[in-house]
Amino acid sequence: MRENPHLIAVVDRSRCEARGPCTSACPTKAIKVRRVSDDVRADLGRLARLKLWMHGGDQAFIDPDACLGCAACVQVCPENALGMRKR
Ligand code: SF4
Repeated sequence: MRENPHLIAVVDRSRCEARGPCTSACPTKAIKVRRVSDDVRADLGRLARLKLWMHGGDQAFIDPDACLGCAACVQVCPENALGMRKR
């Protein structure tokens, strides 16, 4: 995967199930799976909150300072929950 300083990985909170292959695919360990805070949960739609609860309350989070924009995580996510956007 090639680095791209103009891009950053983003997580689709309606899709992420915290399965975690992204964490091992990331060359800089920019992705951590952790508990979703109440603030983030409050911004989710009803179905997304239900899905989050069903999968244990954890999701992936990107450290923007560590992300190289390489898209390696996008390739391995089984839920298509990761994408790239311009910084
Ligand atoms: S785009 Fe690359 S560096 Fe950024 S979070 Fe995904 S795998 Fe890690």
